[in-house]
Parts: sequence; structure tokens; C-alpha cells
Amino acid sequence: MKEIASYAMGQWVAPDAAARSVDCAITGAPFARIGNGTLDTKAMLIHAREVGGPALRAMNFHERAKMVKALAMALGEHKQALYDLSFHTGATQKDHMIDIDGGIGTMFVFASKGRRELPEAHVYVDGELEQLSRHRSFMGQHICTPLRGVGVHINAFNFPVWGMLEKLAPTLLAGVPAIVKPASSTAYVTELAVKIMLDSGLLPEGALQLISGGVGDLFDGLGPQDVVSFTGSAQTALMLRSHPSIAQNSTRFIAEQDSLNASVLGPDAAEGSEEFDLFIKEVMREMTAKAGQKCTAIRRIMVPDAQVQAVIKAISAKLDALTIGDPREESTRMGALVSASQKRDVLAMVDTLATESKIVWRDEARVPTTGAFVSPVLLHCESPDTATEVHATEAFGPVSTVMGYRDLAHAAALVAKGEGSLVTSLITADPAIATAFVAEAAPWNGRIYINNRHSMKESTGHGSPLPHMVHGGPGRAGGGEEMGGIRGVMHYMQRTAIQGSPDMLTAIGQKWVPGADQITGPAHPFTRRFSELLLGETLHTASRTITLEDIETFAHFTGDTFYAHMDEAAAARNPFFPGRVAHGYLLLSFAAGLFVEPNEGPVLANTGLDSLRFMKPVVAGDAIKVALTVKRKTTRNEEYGEVRWHVSLTNQDDELCATYELLTMNAL
Ligand code: NDP
Repeated sequence: MKEIASYAMGQWVAPDAAARSVDCAITGAPFARIGNGTLDTKAMLIHAREVGGPALRAMNFHERAKMVKALAMALGEHKQALYDLSFHTGATQKDHMIDIDGGIGTMFVFASKGRRELPEAHVYVDGELEQLSRHRSFMGQHICTPLRGVGVHINAFNFPVWGMLEKLAPTLLAGVPAIVKPASSTAYVTELAVKIMLDSGLLPEGALQLISGGVGDLFDGLGPQDVVSFTGSAQTALMLRSHPSIAQNSTRFIAEQDSLNASVLGPDAAEGSEEFDLFIKEVMREMTAKAGQKCTAIRRIMVPDAQVQAVIKAISAKLDALTIGDPREESTRMGALVSASQKRDVLAMVDTLATESKIVWRDEARVPTTGAFVSPVLLHCESPDTATEVHATEAFGPVSTVMGYRDLAHAAALVAKGEGSLVTSLITADPAIATAFVAEAAPWNGRIYINNRHSMKESTGHGSPLPHMVHGGPGRAGGGEEMGGIRGVMHYMQRTAIQGSPDMLTAIGQKWVPGADQITGPAHPFTRRFSELLLGETLHTASRTITLEDIETFAHFTGDTFYAHMDEAAAARNPFFPGRVAHGYLLLSFAAGLFVEPNEGPVLANTGLDSLRFMKPVVAGDAIKVALTVKRKTTRNEEYGEVRWHVSLTNQDDELCATYELLTMNAL
């Protein structure tokens, strides 16, 4: 019998007399024990806040991103052990790819986004600078800093690894410690993943703790800086979010709960089309992957009235060919539900659905009699406008209902009857259909997945939440949002509006703000290494007068003989120009000529230019000069770092003619 331990305050804590037993999904026999009646979960909160939080906050975003990547690699090295254990949850090898490989992949994406999109600093600068005063001496900037509390992650049974990692990666990246509480029925897989991460030695003490079993009085200890991130049933979410601590402290509560997701076959996708076949394939995959125990699974299959029978026939034919059985067998396409009690729930839900829909496919005869296996069930609802259960009852297994729709507006109205979904898919090749549908259905969905013959080869699947994209949904789906790239990190950070002088904003955000002090370095900045350059270090160039000959030479050399540069009368008729003006690209080229230091040195490459704006035209006779200021520095690897320069190009009257950000790679 496996003993599923908790990890609290630096110690593994075994189950005690209060433990309950967990069965193997394949055999139904007792497999593990979980729970400890004396686990001090409130003390775990304090340990996370006092030990884990400070250690994580001492690291910057990039150091934490590197740690997340290394954790993903450590898990990757032990994948086989996770697979072996995970079969007992009823999952097939294909299901493991979603849960275990998918979870590790999610960590890699967050690690890489953390390095690319978050600064090498402790504060995240959110959005643009806001000009709050006429002379720019008083400005505004939003920043985000890590919450001083704990991310309490309460996870569902269906994804013991992915469910943990999709929450853990953004939490650690934010600099916040986590307490993970997996669902008891599959917690043995989560426990192993936690053990692998802790044994790697990569995590500072207190950054990750594990509660296997009940949470005790943990909720009484929640405070205003904590975040509860929950995945599971609507009923448990309601109970937990109503806890007085949550209400009194305005503790953030993110819920991702069961929802009645839909897939819509576009009105253009008739039987025989590639889209029709694709639709059947997607529906079939969602019904059977994880034996339908996926929060994103398709519960409602919406098809044009004329296609109902063809769709039922096509799905039934696929179900006829489905192998259900021991998930360890290679021929098995669908494994078991997680437990006998889950099977009872699913069968009861099927009975409820069958009160208003007709069962059109079910085959109990092919289902193993041990463990928690069930037959897929396909239903047909003839009156989806008046039926209620089909839009409200989630049978968390291989159960789905076909319903006909009259037109696209009707399909969108049926989608909305689910009162909030994680995802709806639309299979269509017609952008006009997709545009009309999205306008109606988007407010009811966290994600809309559109697929057709052009995208199907590379598409990621209706049911796969991706780390780059938002996962969650309104209303019935919980009202929460997870992942979505760096958006997901922000759930564990506080956004604060900072108002002050440019010098204040520069110091706080670790990013130079126009108007703040400019420093003159000891030498030309292009001769200084990455590590020597200081924020605000500025080069002021000499000036250069632009002549008409310059403009004509540039025009003929590049081929850009646009009338505004070549034809005085035509240019003067243009409301933007006083007459012939210098090319914007000529100004950029001359700017480079003014600020460059030609000798070989620490500047290795010019990798781009951001936020270019031309503010005032430059005419022949104007004299331009440039100020080049170090705005932000980011180490990229062991050899070089990226310097973001603020460039401002002014004329003889100090009027701003152009501004942009120049990116260079500089040797460390
Ligand atoms: P639950 O809502 O019962 O459990 C979800 C999580 O909450 C588990 O970790 C569970 O732990 C925990 N939990 C339950 N009660 C408490 C409590 N009082 N305090 C703290 N934590 C608690 O969902 P199930 O996993 O049992 O699944 C039930 C149904 O939920 C499914 O049939 C399905 O309809 C839906 N569901 C939806 C999912 C989705 O992603 N949308 C995923 C999974 C389920 P423990 O296991 O120890 O009780």
C-alpha cells in the first residue's frame, strides 16, 4: 500500500490514523493511503510567508525563470516513473502525454516567456508611462510586485501533474511560494512530482509545500496577500469562496470549474467535407481522452439541423471501433474513470441527461467489469431550446449530447445557455461565419477554438489549454482566468500606480524614464561593456545640417523618390509638411552616423528598433542632433546582454523630431 505523504515546513509527514484509502482505477483494489489529522496547515502558511516568500523575492524574474526551467528538466528526467504510477489513475499513455508531458511543457513555456517578457529585475513595469503634468516633471507608471502571501493551489483529480504545474510555474515566476493540495484520488502522482522537484535542490526552502489529504483549518489562516487558485466542482468552489477569511480579507480566489463546453459544426461544413471529418475527429478525441474527464471536454455537440443524423452516424461508427480497457495495454484507446465513486456520479448524470435526451450510442458489453470503466454515451437532444439539463449537467466522463441548430445565431444562443464555458470550438472554413459567431459567443467563453482544413495539421486541439493562452471562463466556468502567458503571473502580483518625478520612476522601475537625470559616462558608451554601462548614461552628439542634396542623394540611392521628398509644390499641398522634407529613414541613418563609435568594441549587434515615432518634419537647412540614453539592461547569456537605448533626435531649436528605442547586444 502506498503511503501518500505531505511536505510541510521542510519535513515529509506520513499519513496517520485519520488517513483514508484510495483505490486503483484499473482494479478497484485499495492502492494508497492519504491524510494526516494533525497536519498543521496554518503553520504551513506562516512558513511559506516567512521563509519561502523572502527567498523567492531575493531572486529576480530571470533567476526564477531559470529555476522553473531547471525544475521542468528535472521532471523530464523522471517521466517514466510518473507514467508508471499514473496508469493506476486509469490514464492511458496518450493521457500521460497530456498530463505529464503537457505539464512539463507548460513550465518550459513559462520559463522562456519569463526570460523574454519579464525584466531582469524585481519589479515589473506594466504598460506605458502616463504623462500627468504639462512639463513632464510629475509622471505616472503602473508597476507589479510579488504578493507577500502564499499561492494555495487546490487541484482537481483529472490532471495530477499538469494541474499543479500550470499554477506553480506562474506563481514561482511571480516570486510567491505555493502550497499545493491535490485531489486525494490521484494525489500519489502529484506527490511523486513534488518529490522530484524538491529532491532536485533547486527550490528554496518554503517555496513549495504539499498537503496530501484534508486542508484542516488552512482557510482560517488565509490573509489579504494570499491567492487561492481552485480547480474542481462548482459546488466545492462555492463553498470555499464563501469562507469568511476570503470575504473579510478580500483574498483573491481564482476558480476554474466544470462547464458545459460546446463544439459547433459550421453551417458551411456539410457531410463529405474536410471540415465535417475534422469535426468528428475532434469530438471523438474529446469524448475519449482521459475517459472524458477533462474540464475542456466537449459536452454539447451542435450541428446544423440537416446534419444531425449524419453526425450521429459518424460518431457512432468511431465509437464502434473504440478499444476500452487496461490503460497499460498498447491497443487501449480509452482507460478507466478515476474511481468507483466518480463512475457512480457519471452514471447518475447520464440518467439525468436521459430524462430529456435520447441515448443513441452506449455499449456496456465491451467495458471491463473491474475498476472504474464506463462505456461512452452519446445522446441526442431534439429540443435544445426547452431542455435544461443538457445545458447544466456535466457528466464528467465520456458523455456528450448532439443537438441541432437552425442558423448561426441559434447556435450562439445555445452556446450561451451553458451560462459560461471554458471553451467552444467552431469548425468552419468561412471567415464571415467565424466573425459573426465570435461576436456573439466570445462573452460566454474563456477561449474560442476555430479550425478547418487549412489549420488542422498544426492545430493544438479543442481540449488543450495552452500556457500562452488564457484558460478559464465566465459564470458557470468559475469566472477565473489562469495562464495566458505573463497575464497568469500577474494573478500573484499586486499592480500599484506609482506617481512621482521621472527620477523616482526610474529608480523604482529600474528603467530610465525621459526627463530623469542623464549621466555622462567616462567614455563613449559604445566603448563600454554591458556591465559598465549605467542606467541614464547618455551620449549627446554633435549636430549635422541636412541639405537638399542629402535628401536627393538619399532618394536616388534608395529609390525612395516619394513626392514629399522630391516635389516642393506637391509636398506643400500635403497637410503634414511645409514643403519637401527629409526621409524619416534618412534621419535614422544620419542619427546612427552621429552616435556610432566605429571601432571594434563591446557592441556586438544592432538587433532592432522599437516604438519609432516621427514628430516633426525636418527640412533642408535644419540641423539635427541625437541623445542616446541607456534605458534598460537585460543579461541574455554568459557572453552578452541586451541594452535598450532611448534615442531622441532634436533640431536646432531643441524640438523633438523623432524618438525610438534602439536595441543592441553588448559583451558583458
Ligand atoms: P471537488 O470539487 O470535490 O474537488 C476538487 C478539489 O477540491 C480537490 O482537491 C478536493 O480535495 C478539494 N476539496 C474538496 N473539498 C474541499 C474542502 N472542503 N476544502 C478544501 N479542499 C477541498 O471535485 P472532484 O475532484 O471530486 O470532482 C467532482 C466533479 O467536479 C467532477 O465530477 C466534475 O464534474 C467536476 N470537475 C471539474 C473539473 C474541471 O477542471 N473543470 C476538474 C475535476 C472535476 P479532495 O479530493 O481531497 O476532496
